[in-house]
Amino acid sequence: MSNILVYIHAPAGAPTKGQRELLALAARLGQASAVLGGPADAAALASLGAAGATGFYAAAGGLDATGLIAPAVSLLEAAVRESGATAVLLPNTVEGREIAARTAVRLDAGVITDAIDVDADLTVTKPVLAGSYTVKAQVTRGPALITLKANSVELPEAAPAAGAPAPVHELELGETGPAARITATAPHTATGRPELSEARFVVAGGRGVDGDFGPVEDLADALGAAVGASRAATDAGWIDHSAQVGQTGTTVSPQLYISAGISGAIQQKAGMQTAKTIIAINKDPDAPVFEIADLGIVGDLAVVLPQAAAEIRRRKG
Ligand SMILES: Cc1cc2nc3c(=O)[nH]c(=O)nc-3n(C[C@H](O)[C@H](O)[C@H](O)COP(=O)(O)OP(=O)(O)OC[C@H]3O[C@@H](n4cnc5c(N)ncnc54)[C@H](O)[C@@H]3O)c2cc1C
Repeated sequence: MSNILVYIHAPAGAPTKGQRELLALAARLGQASAVLGGPADAAALASLGAAGATGFYAAAGGLDATGLIAPAVSLLEAAVRESGATAVLLPNTVEGREIAARTAVRLDAGVITDAIDVDADLTVTKPVLAGSYTVKAQVTRGPALITLKANSVELPEAAPAAGAPAPVHELELGETGPAARITATAPHTATGRPELSEARFVVAGGRGVDGDFGPVEDLADALGAAVGASRAATDAGWIDHSAQVGQTGTTVSPQLYISAGISGAIQQKAGMQTAKTIIAINKDPDAPVFEIADLGIVGDLAVVLPQAAAEIRRRKG
């Protein structure tokens, strides 16, 4: 059975949905082991085990989870050499893609990003050209380093942790990278909303909100959704740049994407076109976003969004 590694950057008591998806896919492909990019206590190991990890690799002496990525690359390289893994799965984040790319150079291996599925023979399915085509791709040299888009894998029923978790295999890394370290970090103020790249529902606003994200945020809260935005809205300073969805922002693949007051430029579509269902609200019936919408509402978002939020709350009771 092939060994499949999953890179877990920051293990926590409860793995994120994205981490559980990576482990579920790895367990489907072979023997799944987690490579721990940060310290993991017994609860974290147990929940990673319940999510599919049958083994663990970590840096002897620990790896600073808030540090730069060079040590993570050394850890992943060592774990691949030790385990003889045929594939490594990483999240399709900026960080995951960079770790994959650098590790591939060290291993003389191939990288495939933006994966939405992987077959047993490691054939990867991925959307290209802003989601206009779906291609199948295979790494032809070395272990396959694959970054998986969030919300791509159907999660199995949560299994109870089966006994004690597997022991952690510690790897000696030696010199792990350039002599630089992060000396301080400041967390973003938590909104209580789901993380944009992993959210099942996203409500996004564009220039049409005209400076007021209130109705977008209110509908997002009624739905338990993350808030996204077009670049026009973030550039205008109406919402933080981290909310930008698109070619130069975050790529999202939620179950539902509600686009409000966004025209649907190709660079915006590039980041949301793979959403399972797209609902577009725009007062211009010719807006390009309607070309990809499953449901189009021609109307003023200041009227439509509050009505939708009120109806959802009414039905929730
Ligand atoms: C290299 C490059 C990278 C880019 N990357 C990105 C990216 O990552 N993400 C991104 O989004 N863009 C990106 N852009 C910008 C992109 O080309 C568009 O300019 C941008 O997406 C437009 O944002 P918008 O749809 O909010 O604004 P507009 O194009 O101005 O559209 C506003 C829409 O709101 C509608 N509207 C107005 N008022 C209302 C109302 N009251 N109710 C309902 N509808 C209303 C209008 O009919 C219109 O369709 C990029 C551009 C370049 C050149």
